[in-house]
Amino acid sequence: MKQLFFLFLFTSTILLAQEKNCGSNLRLNKYYKTNPEAKKIRSTLEEKTTKFQIQKEINTTIPVVVHVVYKNGNENISNAQIQSQLDVLNKDFTRTNTDAFNTPADFLPVVSNTQINFCLAQQSPKGNPTNGIIRKQTTTNSFPLFGNAIYYDSLGGSTAWNTQKYLNIWVAEIENGILGWAQFPAAGDTNTDGVVIDFEHFGTIGTAIYPYDLGRTATHEVGHWFNLYHIWGDNSCGNDYVNDTPIQEQGNFGCKIHPHISCNNSGDMFMNFMDYTNDACMNSFTEGQKDRIWSSISNWRTGLLTSNGCVPTTIPNSDAGIISIIEPNNQNSNCASPIYPKVVLKNYGLTNLNTVTIEYNINNNNSTYYSWNGDLETNEQDTILLSALSSTGTSHLLNVSTQNPNNSTDINPSNDKETKIFSSISGEQVQLNIMTDNYALETSWILLDQNNNTIDSGDSLTNNTLYQNNYCLAYECYKFVINDSHGDGFCCNFGNGNFSVTSSIVNNQYVQNVPFTFTDTSYFCLGNTILTEKNESFKIHPNPTNGNLWINADLTHNNNTPIFARILNNLGQSVLSTKIVNNKIDLSHLNNGVYQILIETETKQYIHKIIIQK
Ligand SMILES: [Zn+2]
Repeated sequence: MKQLFFLFLFTSTILLAQEKNCGSNLRLNKYYKTNPEAKKIRSTLEEKTTKFQIQKEINTTIPVVVHVVYKNGNENISNAQIQSQLDVLNKDFTRTNTDAFNTPADFLPVVSNTQINFCLAQQSPKGNPTNGIIRKQTTTNSFPLFGNAIYYDSLGGSTAWNTQKYLNIWVAEIENGILGWAQFPAAGDTNTDGVVIDFEHFGTIGTAIYPYDLGRTATHEVGHWFNLYHIWGDNSCGNDYVNDTPIQEQGNFGCKIHPHISCNNSGDMFMNFMDYTNDACMNSFTEGQKDRIWSSISNWRTGLLTSNGCVPTTIPNSDAGIISIIEPNNQNSNCASPIYPKVVLKNYGLTNLNTVTIEYNINNNNSTYYSWNGDLETNEQDTILLSALSSTGTSHLLNVSTQNPNNSTDINPSNDKETKIFSSISGEQVQLNIMTDNYALETSWILLDQNNNTIDSGDSLTNNTLYQNNYCLAYECYKFVINDSHGDGFCCNFGNGNFSVTSSIVNNQYVQNVPFTFTDTSYFCLGNTILTEKNESFKIHPNPTNGNLWINADLTHNNNTPIFARILNNLGQSVLSTKIVNNKIDLSHLNNGVYQILIETETKQYIHKIIIQK
C-alpha cells in the first residue's frame, strides 16, 4: 500500500512537469465574458485579417522591454539570460533557428521567415537611453493567470511602457505551473497588452528548466500576441484560421514522430511553435501564420512600425524633465481650488542641472511658470511644491513640463512633461489644530456641518500633543465643539491647551481659541455662505444698532450656565463670542457692517442678521 501511494505521487509529479500550459486562450475567454463587445471587435479584425494581402520583403524590428518582477535573487534573472531569449525570438521568427532542419520535408513548402526581428529597447518612451530591462522587486510570491497585479507598479508589478510602441514582456514566478500567456490584439486593456512568461521558462540559460528551456515559450506567446491561435484551434480538429497548417485533433505534448496523423490529415504539424510540444521539438511558423502576424501589425499594432524604441540615443549635456506628479492625488479628497501641485524634477543630462523653468496649468489654460534653481547631479531628483493653481469644476488635467534646462535649448523634449488627471470636490482646505494640556483624556471635540452631521471627532487624546487635521470642506457653515469633562477647560493651569480652525492656504482663522470650562461651540462659514436664519420667538433691538443690543427671548439655561452670543462677519468668520448679561450685549467695539448673531441654548438656536452703524 505504501509503495502504491509512493508510485502515484511519483507519476503525478512527472505529469505536472511535462504538461505544457499556456494561459492565453483562458484569459481571452474570460475577457469575452466580461466584455462581450470585444468579441465583435475581434471578429471585425478577423475579417480584415482574412482580406489582408501581405507586402513582401518587409523587415521590421520590434522594440522589446523586459520587466523582471522578482521576489528573490533567483527570480532576478541575468541580462545574459534575457539576451538569450531575444536571440531565440530573432532566430525563430526569421527561420534562422539551428534546428530548422528538423522540419519534415513535406512541410518545407509552407514554413516561413516572418521577417520580424526584435531588439531590447534602446530608448525609453521618454527618449532616454535604456538597456530595455526593468527590474522591480516585489513582495508577491507568485502571480496568478487571472490577476492583473503584475502589470502595475502600484500593485507589486511593473507598469507597461507604451504598449503600442513596445512589446512588453513580464518575467516572474507564475502560479500553478502555467508557463505564460499573451494578450491577443484587441482583447484587453492597453496597460496589460503584452506577454507574461514564467522565469523558469524564459531564455536558454540560468533559471530555464527542461523541457521548456530553449526559449520557445516566449516564441509561442509572442505568436499569440501577433494574433496566432493554437494550431489545433483549441477544439477537436478546430480552426486556427491559417490555411497552410493541417487541421489536427489536439495539442501535442512531449515530442512526436512524423507523421502523427489525426483528423484525417497527413500528419500533425507538431513542430509548429503554436503547438504544445517540448521546446526541442518545435521549429517552425508557416507562411499563413506570417500573413496573420503581419495582418495584426497592419490592422492593430501599427504603432510598432513607427516606434523609435530600437534607435540608440545619447544623453544630452543639459536635459531635465518632470518624472512624476505627487500632488494632487486622488487618494486624498482635493479641494477644487486652489490646488498645490507637488512634482518631482529629474536631471537627465550629463552636466549638473542648475536652472530650469517649470510650466504648469490645468486643462491647458493660463500657464504658470516657476523658475527652479538648485544643483542636481545626473539622474538626481528634487521634489518641488509649486504655487497655487485655481481651478473650477471637478475633473481636471494637470500638465507640468520643463523648459530651458541650464538656459539652453532642450534637446530631448519627450521626457519633459507629466500629466495627471484628478478629480476634486468644490470646497476649501481647512486645518483643525488642537493642542492638548496635561489632562488630554478630559478633552474631546467634534466638527459638525450645519445640519449637525459629524464630519470628524476626537477623544482619547494624548497629553501635550498638537493634532493637525486637514479637511476639504464644502462652502457651507460648520460648528466646532470642544469639551472638557472635568470642567476646567484646558488652559492654562494644567498645561497650555488651545484650538483653532485655520485656512490651509491663506492666512485666515475661522475659529479662534477661547477660554472655556465644560464646553465651547464655535461657528464658521466658508466661501461667503452664511448661516440660515432661524428667528422664531426671538427679537433683537435696535437693528441697526450703534453697539448696544437687547435680546428679547427666553434665555434661561437649564443648569444656569452662561449663554453666549456669537457674532460672525459677512465672511462667515467668528469675530466675537460674548456672554449675555441681563439680555444685553455690547458690540460697540466692532466696526460698522453686516454681521450674523447666533445664540444657542440647549433646545433652541437663534440666528439673525444684524447691522452695526455707529
Ligand atoms: Zn498558447
